[in-house]
Amino acid sequence: MADNDCLFCKIIAGDIPSTKVFESDTTYAFRDINPQADVHVLVVPRTHYEDAEALAGAPGELADVISAGVAVAKREGIEEAGFRLVFNTGEHAGRTVFHAHLHVLGGEQLGMFGRPGH
Ligand code: 5GP
Ligand code: ZN
Repeated sequence: MADNDCLFCKIIAGDIPSTKVFESDTTYAFRDINPQADVHVLVVPRTHYEDAEALAGAPGELADVISAGVAVAKREGIEEAGFRLVFNTGEHAGRTVFHAHLHVLGGEQLGMFGRPGH
């Protein structure tokens, strides 16, 4: 079910424009508006789940999101070179949008992740 106030629900519905990379019955993948790597795509479940834990309560859809992330990597031609899949959760991780989303990052050598500047 969609949440009327949710940015990513609006993107899935097409009410806010996005650059689609991949879609399936249960997922939608689009380019991040503020890319942190040459390839930076967000994969969201079409159903509104607030965070990764809520999405984990629907294991089939969680698996679909991860499979879609790998499909994105193949489509973007970064599968062999390697890529990173990330769920941010909570303030320390800098999470800003409350519709579960998987970041797909790659296309260049990525830095270490953890503390700022590392
Ligand atoms: P978070 O920090 O919550 O894990 O990730 C949210 C991501 O959504 C950020 O990387 C941010 O750049 C991206 N984002 C925020 N608003 C929009 C938007 O309107 N369109 C797109 N394509 N990405 C967005
Ligand atoms: Zn939503």
